[in-house]
Amino acid sequence: MQSSAKQAAIETQFKAIPTPAETKRQHRIFTAEPHPAGSERNNYLARYIADEWKKQGLEDIVIRRYDVFSSDPEETLLEMVAPVPYRASLREAAYEADPDTKNPHISSAWMGMSRSGDITAPVIYAHSGNPEDFALLRERGIDVKGKIVLVRYSNPYSYRGFKALTAEKEGVAAMLIYSDPAEDGYGKGKVFPDGPWGPESHLQRGAIEYDFQQAGDPTTPGWPSLPGARHIPVAAALPVPKIMALPISWQDAKPLMEQMDGPEAPPAWQGGLPFKYHLGGGRVRAHLKIQMKESLKPNYVVEGRIRGRDYPDQWVLAGNHRDAWVFGGSDPSSGTASLMEMTRGLGQLLKQGIRPRRTIMFLSWDGEETSFAGSAEWSEQFDQELRQKAVAYLNVDMAATGPNFQGQSTGSLAPLLVEASKSVLDPSGKTLYEAWQLSRAKELKDADDQEHLTDFNLPETRLGSGSDYAALLDHVGVPSIDLTFEGPYGVYHSAYDNFYWMNHFGDPGYRYQTLMAKLWGVLALRLANADLIPFDFSSYGAYVRGYLDTLAQKQAVHMLDVASLRSAIDSFAQAGQALEATKAVALQSGRLDPLLADQLNRGAMGVERNFLAPEGIPDRPWYKHLIYACRQTYAHLELPGLTEAVEKGDLELAQHQADRLEGTVRANAALLIQLNQDLACGGGFTPKNSLACTPAP
Ligand SMILES: [Zn+2]
Repeated sequence: MQSSAKQAAIETQFKAIPTPAETKRQHRIFTAEPHPAGSERNNYLARYIADEWKKQGLEDIVIRRYDVFSSDPEETLLEMVAPVPYRASLREAAYEADPDTKNPHISSAWMGMSRSGDITAPVIYAHSGNPEDFALLRERGIDVKGKIVLVRYSNPYSYRGFKALTAEKEGVAAMLIYSDPAEDGYGKGKVFPDGPWGPESHLQRGAIEYDFQQAGDPTTPGWPSLPGARHIPVAAALPVPKIMALPISWQDAKPLMEQMDGPEAPPAWQGGLPFKYHLGGGRVRAHLKIQMKESLKPNYVVEGRIRGRDYPDQWVLAGNHRDAWVFGGSDPSSGTASLMEMTRGLGQLLKQGIRPRRTIMFLSWDGEETSFAGSAEWSEQFDQELRQKAVAYLNVDMAATGPNFQGQSTGSLAPLLVEASKSVLDPSGKTLYEAWQLSRAKELKDADDQEHLTDFNLPETRLGSGSDYAALLDHVGVPSIDLTFEGPYGVYHSAYDNFYWMNHFGDPGYRYQTLMAKLWGVLALRLANADLIPFDFSSYGAYVRGYLDTLAQKQAVHMLDVASLRSAIDSFAQAGQALEATKAVALQSGRLDPLLADQLNRGAMGVERNFLAPEGIPDRPWYKHLIYACRQTYAHLELPGLTEAVEKGDLELAQHQADRLEGTVRANAALLIQLNQDLACGGGFTPKNSLACTPAP
């Protein structure tokens, strides 16, 4: 049988295995109890996954331990002391309809990595807590120094750690973040337990670590937190915030906000509560006490694999985090349910004698919610080995909050993701590819993006941060894909993101989580079995050219010389195109020599790693990728070193970054030309009109 026909048969066999009933059964196990990082329950679930994987037939199962700097609440108190007393409940209400909401282990309000303290101060409303919001307060003569600011989770979302750092820089003493009903509550639609949006007492817990500077344990920058490892003093750890912070529900924010005096907030700052919002003139004073306990806590990463038959030292990685703020109905246990269903399917193939050609490695991360601790420490531990062996990383965090597929992929894997989406069926009866086109077209239209929808812009190639791929991609240079299905979702990081929510709103019937298991497995199988690993550097080059064009449109890049960088990117894209043409001839011939294919694959695996700079990007040495990083808000940031230097107006640094980037792009262009020659000349696969292998005169 041709290898493509053989692959299709394997995929068909695999796709028949995952079922909604089994996905639901797993989902119930993971959502039965709250399981934050470091908790008994989460550690039990690590052992449960290891045991299940053993039964499913996975190999080399190990649980890796990292002792991670953690900060947990001992006491939190928020009360208004003037003009009227009010004690915030900091709790989420229980509902008869959903017995899980009565679970005594649900935590109260707290924020990961908040500083401890006890203060009484006036409260100021600072909208979303962005720099421009503080600028407006300054214009209105409102001083925030030493005060408590009340900010809201903003839409579009920006990472709460960005708000914390912004407030810290402004000299604010403490920050309260509340969920405004306009953003994720009744302003959007029906609320829990009658709808998917957040009810009055729901609160969005979360971490505020400055992991956009350096991810993982902040006290072990660049090395793994193995038991006994050296930890730097907390005071010297850059990513640890120096501000007190607490999340609250709108139910607890309302009594304070309705008492606030001072100037009326601008129209854009008004929200969903039934009164005019004011900026705060000193009438409302609050007492806030937060006592955190700092310790080193074990985090556990579960690792299992199916060893590759032909290339055991080439690793396709698939991972999901296990820890949840509370039950993790969607975040992340929907992804964990999909993971377990995918591993069951691939394990079953193995039991039937179908072993992938490359190793597929499965990872259940820990501590994602606080600092990406599991994936970051694991990446640091296996940094050198990953640079040699990693093919790609496939991440699923939340598998489903609704029906709209969102596929993100770094440039070289985007075409693979598009192709794979054609091979699985959406519950609507269409292929996932067709369903994805519809939702993506709507998204572009809503964003007023005039761009015409094509296979090229169907996937989002601009990955930022916010999940575990950040460590693999930005620190180690592993090309990454991130997958989710989205829908109306107002209970993020609250006790209501649970089994009931999933069964009534997110994915009743478990059709999308099951589809995720199938898509995830198909991607892993394609990467693991392909004669030539399906990297597409022609597309990658085109995406990178687009990133530079976007930067040039927005910024005064004409001040510096990027012509040479542009021509390097063109050479990279052209070399990629030529290689694609030769690959097509080689694959169609059916006589590609396995040794030559392996040589080509090893070369191609190096391309992403070549985009790493050992010294990292300016001011953020942990972030080493010169194409991909994130902003402080977690938003995507391409050509990060160059872009940030241009935005700062530091032309000297910008020129240096442009040159640095150009060097890596040229090295990769040369590598692709070499690989093309090896394939064309060594294998005798010369496409028409190609000069790749002109015999020496
Ligand atoms: Zn998550």
